[in-house]
Amino acid sequence: MSLGQPLSPRVLNPPASLGVIGGGQLGRMFLQAAQRLGFRGGVLSAIEGSPADQIAHWSVIGPPGHLPALRAFAEKAEGVTVEFENVSAPALRWLAREGKVVRPGWRTLWVSQNRLREKTFLRRYEIPHAPWRPVLSAHDLDGLVPALGLPLILKTAASGYDGKGQVRLDRAGDLESAWASLGHAACVAEGWVQFAAEVSVVVARGADGRSVAYPVGLNHHERHILDTTVMPAPVGPIVSQDARNLALGVAEALGTVGVLTVEFFLTAEGRLLVNELAPRPHNSGHLTIEAAVTSQFEQQVRCLCGLPLGHSDLVRPAAMVNLLGDLWSRGEPDWAAALRHDPGAKLHLYGKRTPAPGRKMGHITVIDPDPDTALARARAARAALVTGRA
Ligand code: AMP
Repeated sequence: MSLGQPLSPRVLNPPASLGVIGGGQLGRMFLQAAQRLGFRGGVLSAIEGSPADQIAHWSVIGPPGHLPALRAFAEKAEGVTVEFENVSAPALRWLAREGKVVRPGWRTLWVSQNRLREKTFLRRYEIPHAPWRPVLSAHDLDGLVPALGLPLILKTAASGYDGKGQVRLDRAGDLESAWASLGHAACVAEGWVQFAAEVSVVVARGADGRSVAYPVGLNHHERHILDTTVMPAPVGPIVSQDARNLALGVAEALGTVGVLTVEFFLTAEGRLLVNELAPRPHNSGHLTIEAAVTSQFEQQVRCLCGLPLGHSDLVRPAAMVNLLGDLWSRGEPDWAAALRHDPGAKLHLYGKRTPAPGRKMGHITVIDPDPDTALARARAARAALVTGRA
């Protein structure tokens, strides 16, 4: 039995009006895919001039949980999807009751926007993950070290991303102060995983319950923020099949309709542990725009509209490097230098006007018959942005 809403056969054909909740780069790339397929694409964006607002056919500006904004959005959108998981579940339920096609549904969001619910889901469906304990009161701190060992990591249950709302603990004596530093919020305490690599799998589950998985991506983080992805990950056929099957199993158990990304820790012994779920396209899947038969964003459109899914095969191996605001620290990056350096490099900029350290401003993808070469080329193109040479 899965948790999701019952499957509905409703289909939206172009030029239906599709609305995405959230104005960031994921919303922008969803709209680009929707518009290419002939749909009208709009956004409910908290800020005017956001990446998605800049290219939308229509926009509603307002907070996504705010009823007047939702009403205006509902008047324009026939189909609704999301670009981040912290969209209010009651808001999505309201949109569905208004007769909108809403995919993924509110139950998927409800599970994935809270680490306690997500871990409980993983445990219930016996999906492998790191050992954990809930922390809801000071009393819960007592049993953590005996149960999980040291180091351990404390993560707020709600609204953490890119390593925010997390503290690593090396000494039992630091538990109370670490929890205080997180504002005594409801938390998940996790045992430390000595992982050899971090990998992810993007899957898409259609409105008919059929699903497809992309090849495994190998992810490298810097300061808890994704830095590079290489696809396919050099993990061998057994781990690769395991990871894809686990990710497909998660989508099925969640009963989600839409794109879902499963992030894993891979241990040196080849064990896969689910770290996080994202019920949407993911930064590690951006390279599918150039490298796969169907991009993750086009799959999101197809899922939302009840259309058949496209092939998820890679046409070529690929690598993606993120462009963070740090690249602007000594002025505007030298775009021409990067493109001159590698005419095969594909530059994506999200239209954000204010660079800030750690802020995702864009990415570069390179496809190449050899994944390692793709990564080296993508890194070199990025380096050329600031040095003006390779
Ligand atoms: P998360 O926000 O849960 O994806 O965590 C951000 C990053 O922190 C991960 O990509 C890992 O590099 C690291 N991390 C999180 N949880 C653990 C863990 N239990 N053991 C080791 N590293 C972790």
